[in-house]
Amino acid sequence: MSFEQLGLAPALLQAVQEKGYSEPSPIQAQAIPAVLSGRDVMAAAQTGTGKTAGFTLPLLQRLHESAPVHPHRLRALVLTPTRELAAQVAESVDTYGTHLPLKSTVVFGGVKINPQIAKLRRGVDILVATPGRLLDLHGQGEIDFSELEILVLDEADRMLDMGFIHDIRRILKLLPDQRQNLMFSATFANEIRSLTASILSNPVEVEVNPANATADTVEQWVYPVDKKRKGALLRELVIDHNWQQVLVFTRTKHGANRLAQQLDKAGLEAAAIHGNKSQGARTRALEGFKAGKVRVLVATDIAARGLDIAQLPQVVNFDLPNVAEDYVHRIGRTGRAGATGKAFSLVSADESKQLNGIQQLIQRHITREYVDGFEPEHDVPENAPLRRAHKPSKHAGKAKSGGQRQGNSGGNGNRNEGSRPPRRRRRSRAGSPSSSNGNRA
Ligand code: AMP
Repeated sequence: MSFEQLGLAPALLQAVQEKGYSEPSPIQAQAIPAVLSGRDVMAAAQTGTGKTAGFTLPLLQRLHESAPVHPHRLRALVLTPTRELAAQVAESVDTYGTHLPLKSTVVFGGVKINPQIAKLRRGVDILVATPGRLLDLHGQGEIDFSELEILVLDEADRMLDMGFIHDIRRILKLLPDQRQNLMFSATFANEIRSLTASILSNPVEVEVNPANATADTVEQWVYPVDKKRKGALLRELVIDHNWQQVLVFTRTKHGANRLAQQLDKAGLEAAAIHGNKSQGARTRALEGFKAGKVRVLVATDIAARGLDIAQLPQVVNFDLPNVAEDYVHRIGRTGRAGATGKAFSLVSADESKQLNGIQQLIQRHITREYVDGFEPEHDVPENAPLRRAHKPSKHAGKAKSGGQRQGNSGGNGNRNEGSRPPRRRRRSRAGSPSSSNGNRA
């Protein structure tokens, strides 16, 4: 399969060639013809699959092919949950559209609005935006949606997670009814399905079967934080994300006890399980957790191994394990069939060796995210480049089957090699742009 076979215009083929892509990734091979056909598309695809080009290339082509009534009137809107993602998508639109006479810009919150207004006033065909700022700008009369033809919701699951649903619904009401809708989401869990039903009409469903189900359904983040502030950060995450059932891993039994006590004191029902706990205590903790009475279950690696718990929406690594393979076991606790799991690692500067070991094992740099108010005094050192010929350790057979590989994702493994991911911030206020789960180069 080649990009030519997908029916892309020469100007886009040239841009793709200049980017150095030799062939479409699986999501691109499916999404590009679907979008070109003009139908609504619902695509299950995560970061790293090449999804951005999967919607950007055909979107550009469709805009280019149909003559606009007025040049540089807003015809395509891409909504993203975070400013980082917005910036990255906008960059892709620029790159892939470089040989086309279309204009694009990006707007997101947290920066001055006036330069964005100035750009909008000069006219754009494509706007990439986070919901809050878009609504602000519309409220100020700076955006006219009357000629909008295509709407893209990127990382729709994340938008819901971050509480953007009301903003999205408000935006939808402002758009013309006749339009093409494209929705990209890492998962199509139930909440997403109901959003899908209200937005998409008879959509083409596109899905790439990850070669490696475990890893590909777990989104992973590293939160650099000073050691002494990990407890406070964990509390903030639990409350902020409204996690009702979270499994937290610590390296030591003592650490597990201490953390469970701290959480309990802070009003978050928690229990610890580890080798020193009696079977009765473990069973009680586990039952409480399953029944929803214990919100945070703190466990050591050994204790967690034998746990009979259904897959969880998220796990947190309060400490990184000393053995990299344990990381893979830990995150394998999340990511239910067809749904995305999330794994958050709170990493202090002294754990860079463990982090490096994990990244070499899974052959990927985990996205870093800095949480407002928890920026570390001592930051985690820069990522070491991934060594291609990673020598698996004796457990690696097992670990690799859960490892994060990019084998079928368009040949874009090992991205970010040697570079540090952009500094990310997470804000808790709904409506403001937050972090991206991207691990893009
Ligand atoms: P995305 O999933 O859209 O965030 O893309 C992930 C990375 O894959 C980006 O760095 C893209 O530049 C890269 N990429 C996208 N499509 C291809 C392709 N067909 N071949 C190789 N790399 C690609």
